[in-house]
Amino acid sequence: MKNVVILGTGGTIAGTGTDPTRAWHYVAAQRHIGELVAAVPELAGEPLEWEQVAQVDSKDMGWPVWQALTAALARVLAREDVAGVVVTHGTDTLEETAWLLQALHDGGKPVVLTAAMRPATAPDADGPGNLRDAVRVARAAAADGLGGVVAVMAGRVWSGAAVRKVHSHAIDAFDGGGEAPLADLHDAGVPLASGWSRAWPVCGGLGWALMSVPVPPRVEVVMSHADADGWVVDALCARDASPRGLRGLVVAGTGHGTLHERLEAALRRAEARGVVVWRSTRVACGGVLPRDGDHWSAAGPMTAAQARVALVLDLLQRQRPAV
Ligand code: ASP
Repeated sequence: MKNVVILGTGGTIAGTGTDPTRAWHYVAAQRHIGELVAAVPELAGEPLEWEQVAQVDSKDMGWPVWQALTAALARVLAREDVAGVVVTHGTDTLEETAWLLQALHDGGKPVVLTAAMRPATAPDADGPGNLRDAVRVARAAAADGLGGVVAVMAGRVWSGAAVRKVHSHAIDAFDGGGEAPLADLHDAGVPLASGWSRAWPVCGGLGWALMSVPVPPRVEVVMSHADADGWVVDALCARDASPRGLRGLVVAGTGHGTLHERLEAALRRAEARGVVVWRSTRVACGGVLPRDGDHWSAAGPMTAAQARVALVLDLLQRQRPAV
């Protein structure tokens, strides 16, 4: 059997607290990935390796951690003796990292993200079960010849392009924004060849090398809401002379990506200064589908946070010299 490599990045799954009766009083990103693996008896004796790539509360996720993670993935996935990779992560920005990884990965091997809503010290910690499931999914997928990026949480497997956090404190905190899970492990255990309820998602294949720039282009997110008069957009543009001036804006619109007329006017002023604008929605499910005559690109099913990552990658590709 080939190895599954587990890359630890922190999060609540590695969190510790001092009062087990109040599980939400804890500090994220404390335990080493080796301790998390040791807490899962079902993984004992399996061909596994682990590596601590970062140790962050994922609310603080950013480019340097993504660079370390993608460098580790590039190195590990290239190894002949590795079947797949599991990444332990915080839940807060898991959807952004998942989206990034599926955009870059060539889809040759499975990359499975997992997390927890309760810290490792909670009596009913969900991390050990999620980690066990993630390793099983990585192995089963590799055995089926499947590759790509998925997330495993609370017994369900979600596409890395669709997964999102939809509850701030429930154990079952993720869904696919209207897209069904690839598998429900409660129903039938980890699926084998024919058991996946949906096809695994195709990766973007942009390549890990896109992460080599030291500083990514600045893309910010703004929201349309009552009284959204565009003041924040004008303020962002006024700082444009800074070394990391604004290059892109994702606007989380109302409903199907509609915008307050005054915010829209400000976005057009920003666009006239060269800022690329993408339209997404603040609504949890459904996204913004492209329509004839759209002035700005529609972000499709992505959340606004995922669309921000996508626009960063899009701008990086425009900068990349042709080879
Ligand atoms: N703040 C934590 C994190 O995202 C929350 C979690 O993991 O559930 O790292």
